[in-house]
Amino acid sequence: MAVPLFDPATALAPLRPQLHEALLRVADGGAFVLGPEVTAFEEEFAAWLGARHAVGVANGTEAITIALRALGVGPGDEVVVPSFTFWASAEAIPPTGATPVFCDVDPETMCVTPETVKAALTPRTKAVIAVHLFGNVAPVAEIRRETGLPVLEDAAQAAGSTLTADGDPTHPIARPGALGDVATFSFYPSKNLGAFGDGGAITTQDDAIAERVRTLRFHGSADKVDYVDIGYNSRLDELQAAVLRVLLPHVDDWAAHRAATHVRYHRAGLDELVAPPVAAPNATPAWHLYVVRSPRADELVAGLNARGIGARGYYRTPVHRQPPMARFLPGGGVDLPATDELARTHAAIPVSATITEEQVAEVVAAVGAVLA
Ligand SMILES: *Cc1c(COP(=O)(O)O)cnc(C)c1O
Repeated sequence: MAVPLFDPATALAPLRPQLHEALLRVADGGAFVLGPEVTAFEEEFAAWLGARHAVGVANGTEAITIALRALGVGPGDEVVVPSFTFWASAEAIPPTGATPVFCDVDPETMCVTPETVKAALTPRTKAVIAVHLFGNVAPVAEIRRETGLPVLEDAAQAAGSTLTADGDPTHPIARPGALGDVATFSFYPSKNLGAFGDGGAITTQDDAIAERVRTLRFHGSADKVDYVDIGYNSRLDELQAAVLRVLLPHVDDWAAHRAATHVRYHRAGLDELVAPPVAAPNATPAWHLYVVRSPRADELVAGLNARGIGARGYYRTPVHRQPPMARFLPGGGVDLPATDELARTHAAIPVSATITEEQVAEVVAAVGAVLA
């Protein structure tokens, strides 16, 4: 039995009638950009998240650039960002005119910590990007408190993850995307909340930041008559917003299944074969990717693929070692030991909103066979 690395399609199958209705509603309504669906989705998404504002944009990469500019980041500034992340977390910084400064991550949670961030601070640091990597939850409140700097949460992989005051999911929750000064989401189809194309959002509790983001996504203007900034053409479109409105009410159930898969992998004995992902304190991650660690990661990926099991090393070359980032590194380079180690040892194995107990058992048996 083949097991795919991820599987967005199976969860969508029962929603076909609602999705078709939503797509036709937009087609028949004739409003395709910044119409009623985007407005409604922004309200619903903000309410679900516990944020005051959500603003739809074209994708999760431009969301970061626009959110940084709304924080006042510009030429001459530095922005601290982890290197063990998807390329776009850092790629979105130079378009603001600022310089990315790479920091390390915790070897177990794979997220930034106050310590790794503080090691990268200089008098020019203007903001910190905390990536909720693989759906884990970075310690945003601690980083804000210990650095005094604004924190942008890159929550592209963390829709559906939750944080509690005491680690008990029945107690009041806060969600990634409502923890920092501003946060960004991607609705790329494979994400936990995925559209039928590109899409993104910026969320914030701050009225002034929300106002700037709304202007920046629309050419730096409120009305296309008077322009107050050099902005972007970066909008979430009506078709994507209509699809997202159908899916949003299901994200928590899908997240619960992803979280339960972590427990199932544990019960099936995965932890005896590889190091499983480690949830941050008080976090219930909606594992976007289920990333294990093994000194034999490449062998594991190849062996699983040969057995029809989806597996992949995502960030084998960390961002700071990719050639286009070389010009931003200090003369002596930068030493990020946990990042280099994780780049070598991580491997994503299957997880989805619908992965079954049998599939989990199949994956664990295959991991055992490959590493035997
Ligand atoms: C997907 C992703 C992005 C970029 O989102 P797009 O919508 O593809 O532009 C940014 N950061 C992280 C961590 C991501 O996983």
